Amino acid sequence: MASRPPSASGKTRRYDRRSGEAQGWRRLYKTAAWTRTRLAQLSAEPLCRLCKAEGRITSATVCDHIDPKLKEDPATFFDGPFQSLCDEAPYRCHSSRKQRIEALGYEPGCTTTGRPIDPGHPWNRPRPA
Ligand SMILES: [Zn+2]
Repeated sequence: MASRPPSASGKTRRYDRRSGEAQGWRRLYKTAAWTRTRLAQLSAEPLCRLCKAEGRITSATVCDHIDPKLKEDPATFFDGPFQSLCDEAPYRCHSSRKQRIEALGYEPGCTTTGRPIDPGHPWNRPRPA
């Protein structure tokens, strides 16, 4: 079993496994500017956008960068565009659905015919001529 190296005080510490670059932009979430941006977004759009698209009325608690690439650059971090998402059970649109979409590169799920619902899914891309 892997063990963590002890800190100077002799106690084990919890390490952040994210890259230095990711730790850099994640720090921006703790700024007063982000608190203002988040509150403005949630005031303008108080309901979860993904739940609303599926006919559910759910309060949003997360201000989400629609394009995840924009949050990685401090120059565009506060610019948006943003969407409001929920992050509480049972739907957890931000932590389960949106982050899975970001990891896969497309939205999982299919129609009743078995065709993937996301137009960006590899099955829905045009075939080479
Ligand atoms: Zn939701």
